Amino acid sequence: MSPSDREVNTPTSGRPQPAISPDTQFFWDAAAKEELRVQCCSSCGRLRHPPGPACPHCLSLEWETRLLSGRGTLYSYTVLHHPLPAGFDQPAIVVVVEMEEGVRIVSNIAAATAESLRIGEPLEVFFLPQAEGWTAPQFRRAQ
Ligand code: ZN
Repeated sequence: MSPSDREVNTPTSGRPQPAISPDTQFFWDAAAKEELRVQCCSSCGRLRHPPGPACPHCLSLEWETRLLSGRGTLYSYTVLHHPLPAGFDQPAIVVVVEMEEGVRIVSNIAAATAESLRIGEPLEVFFLPQAEGWTAPQFRRAQ
């Protein structure tokens, strides 16, 4: 059995805490409440992620947040073997999830093996509290 054949679960401690800025505070505050939120441009209405100060489409600096359903599909993935990311005791599966609202989010998938993943398969977010006091949005196969 190769390391990537083992079912990966994502850690609940030891990860680097996310850097919080005025543009990202809402994302982590929402995650702590088990909500997945992204920025929505107040001028053109487009959703965007990761968060930033200006809309890449119309350059507006005005934005609000939008609650996502938490459902999406696997757009892409990679496996990080060496060095292991902080907090992981086995290779980590990094996924790009295309949310049903159209934005893509980079995260991890739990309870999966890389060999079993299929591009386009349905995934859903779940929220994993970390021992250090923050909450990591993670993904798993849709129930
Ligand atoms: Zn805009």
